[in-house]
Amino acid sequence: METRDMDTLVNQVADLMVNSRRMVVFTGAGVSTESGIPDFRSPGGIWSRFDPEDFTYQKFVSDSEARRKHWQLLREGSLTTDARPNPAHYAITELDSLGMLDCVITQNVDNLHQKAGVPDEKVFELHGNLLWAACLSCGRRYPFDEIKLRLDKGEEMPDCEACHGILKPAAVFFGEALPADVLGEAAQRSQNCDLFIVIGSTLVVYPAAYMPQYAVDAGAKLVIINLSSTPMDNDATVLISAKAGEAMSAVLEKVKEKKAAS
Ligand code: ZN
Repeated sequence: METRDMDTLVNQVADLMVNSRRMVVFTGAGVSTESGIPDFRSPGGIWSRFDPEDFTYQKFVSDSEARRKHWQLLREGSLTTDARPNPAHYAITELDSLGMLDCVITQNVDNLHQKAGVPDEKVFELHGNLLWAACLSCGRRYPFDEIKLRLDKGEEMPDCEACHGILKPAAVFFGEALPADVLGEAAQRSQNCDLFIVIGSTLVVYPAAYMPQYAVDAGAKLVIINLSSTPMDNDATVLISAKAGEAMSAVLEKVKEKKAAS
């Protein structure tokens, strides 16, 4: 994209944001890849090296060998705890500090929006959060760091310290239902916003991809910032084909200029 075109589009997005009364930001894997987190579903991603069949919810709860493999993968992965937020995360956090953010709805499980400073209660994690594990029997939650210490000490299948139930990473697995309360609240926020910003998602994974559809159906304006095309490109008021960090940093600067001038 030519620089001049990019400036125009960034300016349009900033205008929409400044004039919005309720803005929802929706983030996908494209926001996390800039923090070095692999897109699980892309070529070279985890699912091209492992069989997704081994990682379904049903298999995890019924097959101890699958659990052992899963914990091993998470232990080796270091895919979450070491990752740092990138400029896209920080730009979104700053929009919140400016009082412009209703909430973030994310497909990502890496906790990076919270790490960048968006308050927990404003982050709706449709696919859960890998930085936690939960007991399937009593519901007790454990930070992944704690579990990792136990794995590093040689435990192959950490169980619940309270009831010895099965511990499962708090991210949504293949074949597992999305958390109904989070999904419901996210859908409602989408329907009630006037501006919906998609960042780094190709909008092909459902039900997450219903969110922008809910927003548009209810009359909200749609912005899509993504490197590749999406099924909703034609619904977008502004479409920016660029990396998330680069585009959002530029948008934030423009928003601040406009705020200062008004
Ligand atoms: Zn338990």
